[in-house]
Amino acid sequence: MFCLDNVCETHNNFKRAEVKLNAMPWFHGKIRREEAECLLQPREDGLFLVRESTNFPGDYTLCVCYKNKVEHYRVIYKDNKLTIDEEEFFENLSQLVEHYQKDADGLCTRLRDSVPKRGGLEFSVDSKAFEKAGWVIPLADLDFGDCREVLGKGEFGDVRLAWYRGQKVAVKILIDSSKAAQSFLAEASLMTSLRHKNLVQLMGVVFDGGTICLVTEYMAKGSLVDYLRSRGRLHVTPRDQINFAIDTCAGMAYLESKHVVHRDLAARNVLISEECVAKVCDFGLAREESFNLEGGKFPIKWTAPEALKYHRFSNKSDMWSFGILLWEIYSFGRVPYPRIPLVDVVKHVEKGYKMEAPDGCPSEIYEIMRQAWDLDPEARPSFAVVLKKLESFLKKFQASANFHTSV
Ligand code: ADP
Ligand code: MG
Repeated sequence: MFCLDNVCETHNNFKRAEVKLNAMPWFHGKIRREEAECLLQPREDGLFLVRESTNFPGDYTLCVCYKNKVEHYRVIYKDNKLTIDEEEFFENLSQLVEHYQKDADGLCTRLRDSVPKRGGLEFSVDSKAFEKAGWVIPLADLDFGDCREVLGKGEFGDVRLAWYRGQKVAVKILIDSSKAAQSFLAEASLMTSLRHKNLVQLMGVVFDGGTICLVTEYMAKGSLVDYLRSRGRLHVTPRDQINFAIDTCAGMAYLESKHVVHRDLAARNVLISEECVAKVCDFGLAREESFNLEGGKFPIKWTAPEALKYHRFSNKSDMWSFGILLWEIYSFGRVPYPRIPLVDVVKHVEKGYKMEAPDGCPSEIYEIMRQAWDLDPEARPSFAVVLKKLESFLKKFQASANFHTSV
């Protein structure tokens, strides 16, 4: 479910608001009445949850504890609105819950605490929120040309090149699938709130029948890992390496300042623009800190041990991944932990094993990697601190380069 924030901004001459994703921790999906009653313990007045109605598909049921019993209220869908009493109508479940949290308004009691769903929050998909906020692009405004060039393959579908208002854009296409649509729109809604020169910018969202597209700025030079691999030691200069590290770190420091955790930081999720600026992309897994990733495919070699083991994702677990990303930059795109089979990586890492410095990697940079790979998340530096270190390293580097050229 989305609600609109009041923050407006101007981009491409039209005003757009942030589309905020509203998690519904109290929404348990299709569970039976008996299961709901089991979950509602201890029976304190006002303890509640919402489930999908099993008897009336499409409707919901609000289950509330009162005087040691559970009351089940049917929430019906009527004229695109939700209602319990056919007097008060709501656009979405979040609004309904909010209303009855303020006032019992005919229910047995006011809603108080909720029973949160374990393992994965639910969001509902609402294209209207994007429309209202000014983020919707009509499909007809995108010109795919004849070639329909595929820029890459994403988890949900292809990423294609198109023209939009005279500029090249990347279009990530999701073919009809309601489950994936939720994560896809969650990614989009998060992107509406983020704006930084080192994050791939969202331009808009297309809704066309069952198809949803994310339109982002076009990053002409592709992913950082491909860039490093294809050009290699001969063409990627030490100056490029430090620039990529600083760009990525600046994008991450911005996310850190916004308390957004990326969860999938890796050189494959950093893209390079025509001007060689590195930008972080793929917010598919970036969520509020409480989000519980279940059944997700973990990028094991990039994920901090506490995140792998206990799902403890944080800006500090992103810092661990940043250490791996630095290693990728300085090894020109090698796969981390070479020669260690994937199944053994965790075992080694938990014992404190750290990769060696790649050939020719400056000691200052390797020191950052080592700090990022501290088993204690709290002992790892913040992105803000690492950014300062990288910038002062760049200054030193430039000074010595000037020195060399002037003699
Ligand atoms: P997923 O979330 O499925 O991993 P990504 O956002 O990482 O999808 O995109 C997959 C690939 O598509 C990238 O590795 C890159 O090659 C290409 N790609 C994605 N976005 C862009 C873009 N804005 N410009 C150019 N290529 C892109
Ligand atoms: Mg990706």
